Amino acid sequence: MSPVRRVQTSSEAETRALASRIAPHLPGGSLLGLIGDLGAGKTVFVQGLALGLPGGEQLRVRSPSYVIVEEHATEPRLIHADLYRIGGVAELEGIGFEEIVDDPGAIVAVEWFERAEGLALPPALRIALEAGQGDVRRLTFSADDPRYAAALQAMDG
Ligand code: ADP
Ligand code: MG
Repeated sequence: MSPVRRVQTSSEAETRALASRIAPHLPGGSLLGLIGDLGAGKTVFVQGLALGLPGGEQLRVRSPSYVIVEEHATEPRLIHADLYRIGGVAELEGIGFEEIVDDPGAIVAVEWFERAEGLALPPALRIALEAGQGDVRRLTFSADDPRYAAALQAMDG
């Protein structure tokens, strides 16, 4: 059984603030799996993570659509992957995706995480984002591992 938390935000700024509150409580080796349609707020969430980490205040985090993986010089390092253009699991194996996400010195955030289903990945904090009316977004966090307990608790603060 994995602990589940649900949160609703009503603006881009709120989603960003939520992510930056969580970021300092994520240990190196964290894997965040972001799931949700285009425009759900996955990239906004990753921008918030960067803002919440030392060295990330000035970073411009965008959609790494063409490069698939981008690394930011925060502490710990923030690795941002976007699997939108990935054709399948074989392609992910081809770019060494399993090695990229299994990085004990980094926080790894993966958009379209469901596309990596079937790979042997470390335990993840899954974040499902769903658009509601207007700027409302519903975020559902489920943690596969106790290492994410502190981050989940930080959401309340
Ligand atoms: P994704 O990466 O999931 O495709 P983005 O993060 O790039 O989505 O874009 C989310 C879009 O939704 C942005 O244009 C943002 O301004 C808008 N938005 C509106 N309300 C919210 C909210 N509550 N949280 C996050 N983004 C929001
Ligand atoms: Mg995106």
